[in-house]
Amino acid sequence: MIERLVLASTNPKKAVELGALLAPLGIEVVPQSALGIAEADEPHPTFVENALAKARHAARESGLPAISDDSGLCVTALAGQPGVHSARFAGEPRSDARNNALLVDRLAGAADRSAYFYSVVVMVRDGEDPRPLIADGEWHGTILEAPRGSGGFGYDPLFYLPELEQTAAELDPALKNTLSHRGAAMRHLLQRLQAFAQ
Ligand code: IMP
Repeated sequence: MIERLVLASTNPKKAVELGALLAPLGIEVVPQSALGIAEADEPHPTFVENALAKARHAARESGLPAISDDSGLCVTALAGQPGVHSARFAGEPRSDARNNALLVDRLAGAADRSAYFYSVVVMVRDGEDPRPLIADGEWHGTILEAPRGSGGFGYDPLFYLPELEQTAAELDPALKNTLSHRGAAMRHLLQRLQAFAQ
């Protein structure tokens, strides 16, 4: 049974969120930074490969089971971009405001403004695990021509949900967690975790 899990992420919010989800299962989440493990590269063209690379790196370095996630926004009219490059769409240093401005610019005049967020969570028992647990989720919406709302992060102010008539940045955070790609991926993970962790 898994008792301690390394989180291959430097985002403290993710550590808190995952810690709360996994504590009832008797699993303690330790951020890789607490063990002095540096971030792995994310050179791959798919979310799942990047998440797997990060989890495998953390497991190899720590000798413990590891969990990681990777996510981003895929826009239909941009052939799936920014995709795995979502965090740094407008280059370094990473900036949500510049990423959003570039997205609006790239979609100027586009008839199809549909897009979806994607999230994948990967767990490995060790650095050589041949059968990782992979769980994913999607969240579909459209991209506005100007940002709306002050909540959330990233592309939330441009990501519009026609059925709710709100952007992700206008949603109550608890509602965002229920509807979002990350929420769906985490629910799928939890459904299968008990069998995986034994
Ligand atoms: P990462 O998975 O933490 O590397 O995040 C990838 C990037 O995708 C973020 O920096 C955001 O630009 C974007 N992204 C992922 N999830 C969301 C979300 O829920 N809202 C807005 N942007 C997101």
